[in-house]
Amino acid sequence: MPITEEMPEATTLGRAINDASDKTLRAVFKSICAKNDEARKEAESQLLVTATDTEESSDNNKKRQVPRYTFCVNCEKEFDVTTNTEENCRYHPASSEPTGEDLYIDNYDEFEVDTDEMREEFPECFTFACCDGNLKDNPYGCVSDFHREQYPDQKASKRSRAV
Ligand SMILES: [Zn+2]
Ligand SMILES: [Zn+2]
Repeated sequence: MPITEEMPEATTLGRAINDASDKTLRAVFKSICAKNDEARKEAESQLLVTATDTEESSDNNKKRQVPRYTFCVNCEKEFDVTTNTEENCRYHPASSEPTGEDLYIDNYDEFEVDTDEMREEFPECFTFACCDGNLKDNPYGCVSDFHREQYPDQKASKRSRAV
């Protein structure tokens, strides 16, 4: 185990942080930010960045704050919006399909093949239609692109407002 992993465990609080669930930690963190201005400012400086608005239609010149770390819809990883480049994201545009014959040997409809467990056990039997690659040889993807935010903008678009 690397030394850096052991450091936070050195104190009882460190151990408590390591043991608590994400949900609990989020709740604690929010309550700290709500009670303590100093902590809130520190959290904002680490978790928010100023948006660079390039849309020509945006008439408000106010600087908007947006989350710095967010999840990518393509590769499903967390990324930092300040360091997002065309090379950062690798993914398969198509999802993996169970195509390998091995999946069906001795399987008379007795068990599901299109499952995460089967993908783990027989990665070579799952192929991507986008590139013909399989999960074993190319698990990460055949396309490089920018990471894409799940919720690219908090302000509602005209279309979604009309609903
Ligand atoms: Zn692909
Ligand atoms: Zn991505």
